[in-house]
Amino acid sequence: MIGSVRTRVYTVPTGDPDVTEADGTLAWASTTLDVVEVTAGDSTGVGWTYGPPACADVVDATLADVVTGRDPLDVPAAHEAMVRQLRNQGRPGIGAMALSAVDTALWDLKARLLGLPLHRLLGAVRDDVPVYGSGGFTTYTDRQLVDQLDSWCSAGVSAVKIKVGESWGSRQDRDAERVRVARAAVGPDVDVFVDANGAYTAAGAVRWYDRVREQGVSWFEEPVSSDDLDGLRRVREEVDADVTAGEYGYDLTYFARMLDAGAVDCLQVDVSRCGGITEWLRVVAVAASHHVEVSAHCAPNLHASVAAATPGLRHVEWFHDHTRIEGLLFHGACTTPRDGAMPLGDAPGNGLELDVAAGREYRVR
Ligand SMILES: [Mg+2]
Repeated sequence: MIGSVRTRVYTVPTGDPDVTEADGTLAWASTTLDVVEVTAGDSTGVGWTYGPPACADVVDATLADVVTGRDPLDVPAAHEAMVRQLRNQGRPGIGAMALSAVDTALWDLKARLLGLPLHRLLGAVRDDVPVYGSGGFTTYTDRQLVDQLDSWCSAGVSAVKIKVGESWGSRQDRDAERVRVARAAVGPDVDVFVDANGAYTAAGAVRWYDRVREQGVSWFEEPVSSDDLDGLRRVREEVDADVTAGEYGYDLTYFARMLDAGAVDCLQVDVSRCGGITEWLRVVAVAASHHVEVSAHCAPNLHASVAAATPGLRHVEWFHDHTRIEGLLFHGACTTPRDGAMPLGDAPGNGLELDVAAGREYRVR
């Protein structure tokens, strides 16, 4: 029986206090992590989401009572009960992030109770999980950018991603120059991805892509707002790169609509937002029915196990901020890819233990 649901919230400043990190449409100086621990007997499962402390508030006030007292082996029943309980508060956004944090902790708990690695409980289809390096913030100097790209290439990644669309798409010359810097840094054998975070218009995105076409950019993420499904489809028809989106998907229907619209070449899914592992498994099935591969958005250590169990997986995003935070706060976290992939361990559950002592200086509630 599930005995308790506990939350902790950590806010971790960016690594260099002199560097505010930014993409095309947002800047930030810190990242907040909401951790959920669910216990049954002597076993504890851990999950999390990256969102404001309000996510933990939703867990404490709305979801904890729904989950407590249930059979920990029946995760879908707990998930369904949580979804119903969220109805009048709104599932998309903070509600779904809270749901995801609890659901990922419940799956981890179940695996630990059964003495299985989580990827074995889910049923693995691969021996390790390929990642691509992701960061390349618009606030970086060229030197900082090249150093970051070099670090990923040294870890054997086959692709790197940088942010473009600086200042809501108003610095297109610099965007194009930074792509040239990235291509020169990684050479011809590593894929260069870009993420505009919705900064461009559809016509503007196509014109900008023409300027960097010769750099061989093979992934164009959110060239326009991911709410603009028609715009994504129009960009997709005009550029050589794969057009991708999905990081703001908070339920199955969102992803079904995106796929039905023909908006993406590769669907991005975030297990810390979409509704946890329970919903991830449904989303990737719908993607498979459209013959579209999926890529995991951010939170690499939370994704490793479920990504290993996903046949249509292309890769997991090795996001700079999250890899750093997960290494700081969790024993057992992968901090450096090996040959461009995260290895899968034999430890029960997701193999992670919250480092309460290390987290003390970052804890906000
Ligand atoms: Mg993105």
